[in-house]
Amino acid sequence: MALLAFVWSLTSLRYSWIWKSLLLINVILIGSTLTPWVVEEIKAQENTWVIHFGILASVYFVMLFTDFVAIISALIQGRKRVKGVQKQQINIILGSLAITLSAILITNALFPFGFGYYGLTNAGSFFTAALVSGVAYSIVRLKLFDIRLVVARSLAYVLSIFVIVTLFVSIVFGVSSIAFNVQIPANQKIYIASMSIVIALVFQPIKALFDKVSNKVFFRNDYNPQEFLNKLSKITASTLNLPSVISESSALMVKDFKVEACSFVLLNPDGTVHSRENSSLSQDLIRQFMHELPKNVRSTILYGEDTTGSRLKQAMTRINAEAIIPLNSSNTRVGYLLLGIKSTGQPFNSQDLKILSIGGDSLAVSIQNALRFEEIQNFATTLQTRVDEATRKLRYANDKLKALDETKDDFISMASHQLRTPLTSIKGYISMVQEGDAGKLNDTQKQMLGQAFTSSQRMVYLIADLLNVSRLKTGKFIIDRTPVNLAEVIEQELAQVRETALSRKLDLIYDKPQNFPDLMLDETKTRQVIMNFVDNAIFYTPAGGQILVRLIDKSSSIELRVEDNGIGISKSDQPHLFTKFYRASNARKARPDGTGLGLFMAKKVIIAEEGSLIFETVEGKGSTFGFSFSKSKAGVQQK
Ligand code: ADP
Repeated sequence: MALLAFVWSLTSLRYSWIWKSLLLINVILIGSTLTPWVVEEIKAQENTWVIHFGILASVYFVMLFTDFVAIISALIQGRKRVKGVQKQQINIILGSLAITLSAILITNALFPFGFGYYGLTNAGSFFTAALVSGVAYSIVRLKLFDIRLVVARSLAYVLSIFVIVTLFVSIVFGVSSIAFNVQIPANQKIYIASMSIVIALVFQPIKALFDKVSNKVFFRNDYNPQEFLNKLSKITASTLNLPSVISESSALMVKDFKVEACSFVLLNPDGTVHSRENSSLSQDLIRQFMHELPKNVRSTILYGEDTTGSRLKQAMTRINAEAIIPLNSSNTRVGYLLLGIKSTGQPFNSQDLKILSIGGDSLAVSIQNALRFEEIQNFATTLQTRVDEATRKLRYANDKLKALDETKDDFISMASHQLRTPLTSIKGYISMVQEGDAGKLNDTQKQMLGQAFTSSQRMVYLIADLLNVSRLKTGKFIIDRTPVNLAEVIEQELAQVRETALSRKLDLIYDKPQNFPDLMLDETKTRQVIMNFVDNAIFYTPAGGQILVRLIDKSSSIELRVEDNGIGISKSDQPHLFTKFYRASNARKARPDGTGLGLFMAKKVIIAEEGSLIFETVEGKGSTFGFSFSKSKAGVQQK
């Protein structure tokens, strides 16, 4: 029976009529075990006991079996409805209970009645250890009960029974022996004491039963205050949605207090009306009513009470309000709850007022939270709209910038193309004049024309750089590979800058290898890269310096190194090199007219040709720029 109750509370199943009748049958049949109808007599035989059963014994066993089935099926049913720790608890109890109950059934029912073997009837009890361990495990590891609470409650219960019984027994026995000089025989004393324990035990349940019955009979229309507050706190705790809080709590008030109407007037923090909820009252009526309502109302105002002035009374009549409950949340007036008259015709009594004041407080907190939540949601929506608007503007600006950027690229591309033709013609004419086609030249004229030619050549490279940058953007940057002999190419490029190097008092040395292999490279672009390295070395090396160009044929790769002993590059500038338009501060001083495009393009070209860059520098000591190509990748064709 105890197991039945335990399992039902563990699985939180409904106390259905099946359960109730099973419990009743249990009570009756357990009671009947005191009579000879279940067990007639028990005889000692050899080493064990033989039991002679009475007429109700079979019914008793059917009941035990039914209990067994009910307990197991309740656990299985309850198991399906829960999750997590609760499921684990039920699993453990189910397992241990199944072991214990089946062992007891086998040793105490199957063996004795099936095979007439009574030898193991005592052993059955040992199997309860399985159940005890299961419950213990669930308590300790799975928090089945709050054991401290159980101990505290049980202790309080036992102590109160103990005190009542001690008081009763000492009063009865003391008074009878002292006042009446009556000596109660010992067996009667035991009887009276044990009866007092029984009465102390049944007092509480009997009182609760009569409370319930009398409440049902005498307060038919009434509500249970505790239940009302429980339901209200369930509503307030379950949602942050203002309409739900209002409509559900209104419905509860109407149902429990039997009021004809229930509406809310909610206030803004500055005391103005925020909204009227669940109300058919016009804004005008509410305004008039609010005008009459004293601002410092602290407790419920009832219609017609002494505190109600005649104007407020009129205003209350107009809005059919019987009670006005101020809603306060931590000293802030959230609003008012307006209740109509009770349909039972009874006035609000003191219990109602107490409950309404407690309920009003919890409603106020919940309404304030809901209002704040609404505010946050509105704020989030406004924020979202603003973000959307800003994103739209940004997108528009971005599109515009992109269009401008494209126009700029088009312009650079077009300008570079246009510049190339006249420049080619300038270069052509200069070289014609240099070769004496326009008459004999003296040394000064030759030198000046040499400078003019070098400058136009540099301009050609600059324009090529600009064109390549715009090609990179438009995806038209293509590597066009042909067999190139770098040893020759370098010689030709260096020939163009020898004049300049000489004029800047620099020693330009080329370590030209013999029999250098051809590589598959884009000749024009690679020329430009080499020229850029050499040009930089010339301009970033002070007079008297040396530039050594080395082309090295290694076993599996080739390497070009342009080494100078010039200004070098500082550590802080080094990470930014090879990015578009970047120029170190010492370079700006040494050569104000640079573009910062050469290294950027060199990197693009070498990477596109599947080579790698060489870059070493020490500030103030010099730099080495160059590239290397693996022979396998660059498609070497041995001469
Ligand atoms: P520019 O030479 O037109 O400034 P580059 O792209 O060719 O543009 O070079 C980028 C920067 O790299 C230069 O401004 C300079 O700071 C640094 N640099 C390149 N080569 C050298 C060098 N040989 N010695 C010192 N600094 C160099």
